[in-house]
Amino acid sequence: MRIVDIRATPVTVPLRRPLRWSFGVEVSTTRTIVELITDEGIVGVGETRGGDEVVRALHLHRDLYLGVDPMEVWRITRRFGVFRMTSEQLALVGAAKLAGAAVEMACWDIVGKALGKRCGDLWGGIETESVEFAAYVFYRYAAIDDIGRGDQPEDAAEHAEELFDRYGFRDIKFKNGVLTPEQEIASVRMMRERLGDRLRYLRIDPNAVWSVATSVRVLNELADYGLEFCEDPTWGIEGMSLVRQRTPVPLATNMCCVTFEQIPLSVRAGAVDVILGDVHFWGGPSSVLQLAKVCETFNLGLSLHSDRELGISTAAVLHLAAAEPMVSHAIDTHLLEQADDIVTEPFTVADGRIAVPTGPGLGVDIDRDKLRHYAEHHRTVGEGSEFVDPAQAGFRAKFPRF
Ligand code: MG
Repeated sequence: MRIVDIRATPVTVPLRRPLRWSFGVEVSTTRTIVELITDEGIVGVGETRGGDEVVRALHLHRDLYLGVDPMEVWRITRRFGVFRMTSEQLALVGAAKLAGAAVEMACWDIVGKALGKRCGDLWGGIETESVEFAAYVFYRYAAIDDIGRGDQPEDAAEHAEELFDRYGFRDIKFKNGVLTPEQEIASVRMMRERLGDRLRYLRIDPNAVWSVATSVRVLNELADYGLEFCEDPTWGIEGMSLVRQRTPVPLATNMCCVTFEQIPLSVRAGAVDVILGDVHFWGGPSSVLQLAKVCETFNLGLSLHSDRELGISTAAVLHLAAAEPMVSHAIDTHLLEQADDIVTEPFTVADGRIAVPTGPGLGVDIDRDKLRHYAEHHRTVGEGSEFVDPAQAGFRAKFPRF
């Protein structure tokens, strides 16, 4: 079997409401949907972060995968591995690395379809038919044309309760670094009060916007609320290490340790307890499996990061989490905040869990009408999936007065 052609379609899908985070406001998700076509008629689907730049990279580097047997997935992954350089070089090669993640994902889909096996079974064996997720709670603006309203401390707590009532979640991932630390502590307190014993683990993510001193102060105050962990309270491996020495709250990251070459530094500095893998940022599903082994070696926890992925990458995440026992925390998804999807059967959450697809490969099919619709939307709105909020309090929290 040979890969003989590729279709790469950039799409932009709106979010239901604008979501705030420490760098700005997210209003949509831009993804590139990849279809690899083989000479035997099997088509594999993949997805990655980013749009036009990724499509250019896919075409520019087509010699890395066209003409190759998709069964030799790791040969292709190794070829794209040249783009997994050091973090300093990531800005130059980011699009090619993300392109490689989508190609690899599509190859696994082909292999699964050819062998009649699910990706999770190819990746070690599916251990559970459904995967547990945390309720992803944001400070959200009311609407895209109503920026500046609907994001008070009580709104986040109310949203958390709605998600628990409707979808049966047990854990919360709470996006912070948006309001002042005191307002965000108030939100956490309200969530604990409203949800009582229904809330098992709660974690926060200020996306590296707090100073070391602010991080230590806030985390020590929140330690009484039973934080599972805090993602990236401050920036850099050195800063994370300083925070971790001064607080009992475990630290997780999808910002200071995002490549293999950063792992030794992070371990030596004692900077993190949990690494959040990502099927795009780390270079593809096989990289997340390799990351799992490294986490096991250094006794680090592993969970999976969400970056507004659509149905194809969500399927990849589900197969990974179901097959890799090192994934030991409820994982993240933006799905409930996304207005639509490009797969024929969008995923649903019940009892805080999403079922692993049952079909061969990734087990999802593209809805052609929706793919066309959101490709057209992408041509209309471009890549503007997020913007910097001029009212951003988070940036001020980075330089607190003591
Ligand atoms: Mg994070």
